[in-house]
Amino acid sequence: MRDRYDYLIVGAGLSGLVLAERLGSLGRSCLVVERRNHIGGNCHDRKDRNGLFYHVYGPHYFRTNSELVRAYLSRFTKWQDAKYRVNVFTRGTYWSFPVNLGTFRQFSRNPAATEDDFKAYLARSAVPIAAPANSKEAILASVGSELYELFYKGYTEKQWGRPAEALDASVCRRIPIHTGLDERYFRDEFQALPRQGYDPMFQAILEASGADLRLETDHRDVVRLVRHRHLIYSGPLDEYFDCRFGPLPYRTARYALEEIGEAGVPAGGFVQPVLQVNYPGPEAFTRTVELKHVTGQVSRSSNLVREFPAEYRPCESDPNYPIPGPESDSLAARYRELAEREPGVTFIGRLAQYRYLNMDQVVGAALHTFEKLRDAAT
Ligand SMILES: Cc1cc2nc3c(=O)[nH]c(=O)nc-3n(C[C@H](O)[C@H](O)[C@H](O)COP(=O)(O)OP(=O)(O)OC[C@H]3O[C@@H](n4cnc5c(N)ncnc54)[C@H](O)[C@@H]3O)c2cc1C
Repeated sequence: MRDRYDYLIVGAGLSGLVLAERLGSLGRSCLVVERRNHIGGNCHDRKDRNGLFYHVYGPHYFRTNSELVRAYLSRFTKWQDAKYRVNVFTRGTYWSFPVNLGTFRQFSRNPAATEDDFKAYLARSAVPIAAPANSKEAILASVGSELYELFYKGYTEKQWGRPAEALDASVCRRIPIHTGLDERYFRDEFQALPRQGYDPMFQAILEASGADLRLETDHRDVVRLVRHRHLIYSGPLDEYFDCRFGPLPYRTARYALEEIGEAGVPAGGFVQPVLQVNYPGPEAFTRTVELKHVTGQVSRSSNLVREFPAEYRPCESDPNYPIPGPESDSLAARYRELAEREPGVTFIGRLAQYRYLNMDQVVGAALHTFEKLRDAAT
């Protein structure tokens, strides 16, 4: 440890570590402080007792269309191609999801239904709402009420703890619908997981950075003790300003790991038909994930992680999903204004921007921020 650093970096997630590595490549000294007891932020993964991977803070499916991001991360990991497939379990059936021609064939009980039949169904069923005012209207406008009731209503209410009518339209507008047979969840060109898991990839980034790391350290405990030229902050935006305008709203979740020994795994080697199963029904959980479907690991055992959505309590729970809406938007805008005026600090990442950002977006943004810091010689 030194008594002085060029950069004090708050958070050892993707944002913090990518910046540490880039700045380290210029010979800048960095101290990374992380309040959890591990690096990797929300992407952190572990192996269970049977040596099978699981994602501690919810499933993280890496995918990208950015060659820049892919090339950058490929310096630190090899990849395992992944086909992220999702089903919905309701009314005693596994349904292909996101909604596609296969789902329509199941739903209409017509295995010969064509893409034109499905398009005609959507044209008949979609409710003509030109400017959906909330998530319920956004879904009704795209698939109509039958599919809304079957797949979206219960899931959305559990996931967000409020009816779809009370949610901003932007939350559900993103849900993909394919009129063809393609049932991949994402369309990105590159879809893969780090072959040895996320953790070794983060270790490699950290090693390349040459940065010092202090785990289980909140930045507020060291910011006045460690001399630094510039602060890079990837923690929650409101916390940085002591929540002076009130806490920003989030939705959180609890993740329960179930390790399943050989005896509990059917002959096919898996306990559920695909990687992820969504549950829109009365179950307390929203989804179960059997990661073995995409890790390439071969084992007679398996594991499932169940996601139980929960009300967010500042300082007690993990801030997962920002809740978009007019009130949170204007609250976040007030904090962003403060952030822009804060001297000597760069705010980066999903928490400091109060935006839901995928991993590739976060890496791309960190690479871009690095260029700005380098050019400004901060
Ligand atoms: C449930 C869930 C599922 C997701 N699934 C996907 C997915 O499938 N695919 C995808 O591309 N993206 C996914 N994401 C998004 C992904 O998690 C983020 O893009 C990525 O983790 C952002 O990295 P980050 O470094 O900005 O933030 P984080 O990973 O949250 O890292 C920030 C770090 O800062 C630390 N910290 C905060 N405050 C302080 C402080 N005061 N002092 C010290 N340390 C502090 C935190 O402990 C944390 O480790 C998901 C997100 C969630 C919530």
